[in-house]
Amino acid sequence: MSTTVNAYAATAADQPLAPTTIERRDVGSRDVRIDIKFAGVCHSDIHTARGEWGQVPYPLVVGHEIAGVVAEIGSEVTKYAVGDRVGVGCMVNSCGECTQCLAGMEQYCLEGNIQTYAGVDRDGSTTQGGYSQQVVVTEKFVVRIPDGIELDAAAPLLCAGITTYSPLRHWGAGPGKKVAVVGMGGLGHMAVKLAHAMGAEVTVLSQSLKKQEDGVRLGADHYFATSDPTTFSDLASSFDLIVNTVSAEIDLNAYLSLLAVDGTMVNVGAPPQPLPVQIFSLIPFRRSFAGSAIGSIAETQEMLDFCAEHGLGAEIEVIAADRINEAWERVLASDVRYRFVIDTATLAQD
Ligand code: NAP
Ligand code: ZN
Repeated sequence: MSTTVNAYAATAADQPLAPTTIERRDVGSRDVRIDIKFAGVCHSDIHTARGEWGQVPYPLVVGHEIAGVVAEIGSEVTKYAVGDRVGVGCMVNSCGECTQCLAGMEQYCLEGNIQTYAGVDRDGSTTQGGYSQQVVVTEKFVVRIPDGIELDAAAPLLCAGITTYSPLRHWGAGPGKKVAVVGMGGLGHMAVKLAHAMGAEVTVLSQSLKKQEDGVRLGADHYFATSDPTTFSDLASSFDLIVNTVSAEIDLNAYLSLLAVDGTMVNVGAPPQPLPVQIFSLIPFRRSFAGSAIGSIAETQEMLDFCAEHGLGAEIEVIAADRINEAWERVLASDVRYRFVIDTATLAQD
């Protein structure tokens, strides 16, 4: 037995998303059934559904920024009760036994964690994501949304929030550190808020100055347009940490030249194509170039609690499910302030 729920699915790489139904498994002893209230729209949803990162199984329901309310719990569930406000991010399980899982870093599970969508679940089925009415997830991969954060503004924290929080913490963003955020979209705007709340001096490097006022309001101390070549000469060798959130090809060497001695540029943006790095962008000032994937479950909870403490949520535009395709086009045009969030109540009408 399973439960049939409404959803929006990609049916092919080049087709718009369309309404459909999917099956959710019965609640197992350690499972939680979540009534999804809001689902954020991450650029990764688009990369994945369009096959930009490799082939995926269709039909595919994406969405890994899930905020909702517990509707049912399994007999051995201890962390949650019916009615609790909870979230699910980019992964729904991992092996639980490798050194990374045992160290509480499931995002780097050596067996590969099970992603919220397009993953292979324990029973061999394809995982289906948050653009749907319900999801069933093992309690370990569910986090609690603190009361201080509205569910709609919380949804994007489950990916955009943790993906920027984790590298900011890992590379020590805080007082006395100069942090640059490249790209002010879903991830970028959260990076600005979080780095500011951590006490760092924050600079936004955006393609234009169109979003400057917003950037300053969200906590940026400085804001520059990368379309202006003087930006790169004015800011040469000045940052301790650069968080690159750009989803497309950019000249990494130009950005690496902005790092101070021992500075690090961390790519969370995940464009599909290889990008050339000149070794001489790194050698002279002992610079580092790194990547980072989401964050652990414990760190995701820590991030949510940090956001509640600092009064942070995502800047969102709530949409009905039938506007998803339009929203995707606007994400691709960098025309989002700063995260689309699907009100999943509108799925009931499809
Ligand atoms: P998004 O909302 O579309 O933001 C990307 C921003 O990059 C845009 O707002 C734009 O900012 C800038 N940009 C876009 N195209 C550009 C271009 N051609 N040249 C220069 N700048 C450009 O996307 P998102 O949801 O934040 O995701 C960003 C990337 O992170 C995606 O590749 C996504 O897959 C990846 N991601 C990675 C992880 C991880 O774990 N590492 C997790 C989630 C997402 P401006 O308008 O300010 O220039
Ligand atoms: Zn995401």
